[in-house]
Amino acid sequence: MIDLHAHTTASDGSDTPTELVRNAAAAGLHTLAITDHDTTGGWDEAVAAVAQLDVAFTLIRGTEFSCIYDDGGVRISLHLLGYLFDPDAEALKAERARLRESRLGRGEAIVDALVAAGYPISWQQVVDIAGGGAVGRPHIGQALLQAGVVDTVTDAFTHLLSSSSPYYVPKLEMPVQLAIELIRQAGGVPVIAHPWARKRGQVLDEAALRSLAASGLLGIEVGHLDHASQDRARLAALAEELGLFSTGSSDYHGTRKAVRLGAETTSPQSLQRLLSLASGIPVISSEPAAQAV
Ligand code: AMP
Ligand code: FE
Ligand code: FE
Ligand code: ZN
Repeated sequence: MIDLHAHTTASDGSDTPTELVRNAAAAGLHTLAITDHDTTGGWDEAVAAVAQLDVAFTLIRGTEFSCIYDDGGVRISLHLLGYLFDPDAEALKAERARLRESRLGRGEAIVDALVAAGYPISWQQVVDIAGGGAVGRPHIGQALLQAGVVDTVTDAFTHLLSSSSPYYVPKLEMPVQLAIELIRQAGGVPVIAHPWARKRGQVLDEAALRSLAASGLLGIEVGHLDHASQDRARLAALAEELGLFSTGSSDYHGTRKAVRLGAETTSPQSLQRLLSLASGIPVISSEPAAQAV
């Protein structure tokens, strides 16, 4: 089983990187990508955790970048997965720092609006929940959960935290064409995450996806819990037509989202395509004792 999209406490997941790696191995995955929002902060701990495993396991280091598609008309927020890029590539590193930084002021603005409306949470509480990871709405959802305002973090997203909520404040996002270019320059592989997760807001149309392919996009996340079955079929056909590879992933967030590791998976063929296109950094594989002898 191959799962190419998962979050940790380095962003809005609830597992530490060590827990993520252990849980993935225990769930029977043999390849996992760590893809926190706008950060590589969980990578080193995840690498160390792989070295401790006694089963065959491969870790792919990645990041999920907050991006904006802007064709001069509509502006559409989207997520772009970047795999196996060089974390020291300066331009991309600076963009990650900018994106993370902006999450602080933006998160505080959302909290201020909720507090002004009488919800009993605080910014300090959210900062503590985020624990130094890239701050996101799920941390605010956790604070609302602790305050007894909602029963689950997902419930918080139906109204209070949704992008159409009166309390919503947008965050900084990088132009997706720039993100594609910088990931490729850093030897990485850009894959668009859950492009047709329609409940999150407006999504890219086929023409926009075609233009991203022309800009250097290499893969499309087709299998995702937020994708309807007819959309999966259409996205798979589009990927095929454009010469892109298709992935499927859980987008695991630990207890902050009701999805388990390996709930959606990627084919070995697509993984091979991804690996053949990457030149930034290597994958990390465990060396179980049984194999070493
Ligand atoms: P942010 O990056 O702060 O804008 O928050 C977006 C994050 O919220 C996504 O990466 C998901 O982890 C999470 N999210 C979005 N929609 C939902 C939902 N319906 N239920 C739970 N988490 C969600
Ligand atoms: Fe997330
Ligand atoms: Fe995402
Ligand atoms: Zn994600």
